Amino acid sequence: MTMEGNAVLLAEDDEMSRSATCQFLRRFGYKVGEATDGPSALREASMGHYDLVILDLGLPGIGGEEVLGRLRRSGGMPVIVLTGRSEEAERVRVLDLGADDYVVKPCSLHELEARIRAVLRRGQVTPASGRIELGRLVVDKTLHRVELDGQTLDLTPKEFDLLAFLAASPDQVYSREELLEHVWGSTQDWQDPATVTEHVRRLRLKLEADPSTPRWLQTVRGVGYRLSHDDAFGTQTTGTDTTNGIHKGIASPFTGDDLSGESELQGIQAPSVVRSSSDVPGSRFA
Ligand code: CA
Repeated sequence: MTMEGNAVLLAEDDEMSRSATCQFLRRFGYKVGEATDGPSALREASMGHYDLVILDLGLPGIGGEEVLGRLRRSGGMPVIVLTGRSEEAERVRVLDLGADDYVVKPCSLHELEARIRAVLRRGQVTPASGRIELGRLVVDKTLHRVELDGQTLDLTPKEFDLLAFLAASPDQVYSREELLEHVWGSTQDWQDPATVTEHVRRLRLKLEADPSTPRWLQTVRGVGYRLSHDDAFGTQTTGTDTTNGIHKGIASPFTGDDLSGESELQGIQAPSVVRSSSDVPGSRFA
């Protein structure tokens, strides 16, 4: 299956790589636009013709990271980053910047195409029910919006998908493998469970008052993650005494993400954008 007819913008300054990738994707039925530097990538992307951007980080003019940041601030168009570095820290950094996925260069074009397909497929998932209210946390799948205390959270498409999936079955625990399968839509080998860990960590930064002791997005050690139905701050208690006991057994600082006993990702920069207040004149927390 391909996502025939989808339009992809390929921002890559290396001509050989760009033309090979373009040819390959066109053979698969994609419409492909090309940009050879940062400014033209931004210009093209702003035209609204594309379903997804493939973005080389090493672009002249305006660097790929800055391009990604601007794309993120201007909307939710999916972005797959091409990066030359494969270390975990780099992968985390790329996701922190708001990429929906990344591919390490030199990459298999078949893998790139599979990732494009996966990202586009996620964007096409039609929610069964529109609005899920968990106390002060509201996930509106129709409007593709998450609100906490009436403030819209600025989530990447994949962060939204993960949260919406967990919110659909509050308190149910899912393993990272299950989340990969349900949210990332694939069980292929290159899907790394660390991807889930990284997204959970980034979601907590946006969702939790104290990300090191999460109230909403909780770790059940050795098992997986769940979204707590409890209103952790007690403003709209829903009387879920049974889960309170579990709260106390998990989520100690710095081990809250650790399902496997391996060391957690420390020292990674937090994303700068935490909450969007664009629709709120003045802070409600003031
Ligand atoms: Ca480059």
